[in-house]
Amino acid sequence: MDLAFSPAEEDYRQRLRAWIAANSYHAAAIAKASDPIQAARDWQRRLWKAGYVGLTWPKTYGGQEAKLTEQVIVAEEIARARLPALINAVGLSILGPTLVLHATDEQRRRFLPKILAADEIWCQGFSEPGAGSDLAALRTRAVLDGDSFVVTGQKIWTSLGNIADWCFLLVRTDPDAPKREGISYLLCDMKSPGITVRPVRNAGGGVHFCEMFFDEVRIPRVNLVGPLHGGWKIARSTLDHERSGLSGVIALENGVERLWRLAHANREPGYLDRSLRQQAAWYWIELEGLRYLGFRALSDQLAGRQPGPSASVGKLFASRLRQKVAKSMLESAGPLACLTKKSPHVLARGRLVAGYFDALGYSIGGGTSEIMRNVIAEKVLGLPRSSGGDE
Ligand SMILES: Cc1cc2nc3c(=O)[nH]c(=O)nc-3n(C[C@H](O)[C@H](O)[C@H](O)COP(=O)(O)OP(=O)(O)OC[C@H]3O[C@@H](n4cnc5c(N)ncnc54)[C@H](O)[C@@H]3O)c2cc1C
Repeated sequence: MDLAFSPAEEDYRQRLRAWIAANSYHAAAIAKASDPIQAARDWQRRLWKAGYVGLTWPKTYGGQEAKLTEQVIVAEEIARARLPALINAVGLSILGPTLVLHATDEQRRRFLPKILAADEIWCQGFSEPGAGSDLAALRTRAVLDGDSFVVTGQKIWTSLGNIADWCFLLVRTDPDAPKREGISYLLCDMKSPGITVRPVRNAGGGVHFCEMFFDEVRIPRVNLVGPLHGGWKIARSTLDHERSGLSGVIALENGVERLWRLAHANREPGYLDRSLRQQAAWYWIELEGLRYLGFRALSDQLAGRQPGPSASVGKLFASRLRQKVAKSMLESAGPLACLTKKSPHVLARGRLVAGYFDALGYSIGGGTSEIMRNVIAEKVLGLPRSSGGDE
């Protein structure tokens, strides 16, 4: 395992830092913009034009054909500079790699450049009220009628569903086949007649995701990705796409630093008590563990090896750590955590309670902690396979 970046990679990092220093004010302006969605699209396009989006994608479709290490450096520096996540994150991290691997050349040319430029924002329509961990139980139907599929059903927990231009959908096209063999992967224009989107407010008060209803929505057959009824393997190939998780480590590092600053800012008696010092030290030690896990996954990927279950271990520990840090922040702030930003005594812009509730979602989205434990039980400990879930 090689833990050092080469001199050329460090040079790349320095040039990127200089670019971020000169341009980050555009990202900072998003929250105050009259149209924050458009401002977020513009920011992603600016990053892409500078060569920092679509790092490993083919040049023909707008990518950079750069090395994986450069992609990791960009993700790390974006997190280190505390820049907002890119608005088309779902399109960039899940759909784009899927299309690169499985789509036709025509589909790649049509969709990939617009994902990179944030001209088309994507959402993922996989989960349904009866299909989450057991995703293959999905029931949304698609029936071929001439040159179109006619789609009827319901999706839920769709992140960005309220602003997305397009959605990649898993649908059941053969109800008589075994459940993983009758599923297809479709690309749906969200302006198609028959789609209703209802935002779902989460416990933190924000609208992060939506439920979506499809009532005889027509999707042209040319928007089928891969073979008819072959969608399950296509979805798995990119859901399984293991990541190093190193940018997540830096985001967590920022969280522990925020906890430390908050502890200093909140000058209640006992604010620097032993227990908080112990907690912060433990969090830092866990962070270092996650960092080396990330390096191991990255080394495996660079050597062309499958990183194995390290992504599940990383996801489980990172989501738990995020929750512990958010809880420590609440405890450190005490009753002041409840103040809104109108109060002169407000801490952390009044986001502590919402931040805690948001952190809870990390152990559900992208596979629950129980499912991650099942993966570890089976692939690391060699225990028998669980009876449910799609891990
Ligand atoms: C913040 C967030 C964003 C999301 N964004 C999207 C999105 O953009 N698109 C999308 O399609 N979905 C999205 N989801 C949905 C997410 O993928 C599902 O919530 C998740 O897969 C769990 O499914 P479920 O909610 O149906 O829970 P269930 O699968 O019903 O699970 C309920 C409980 O049972 C446990 N459980 C289930 N099976 C097993 C098993 N075999 N062994 C042990 N325990 C088990 C689970 O761990 C959980 O505690 C998002 C969720 C969150 C929280």
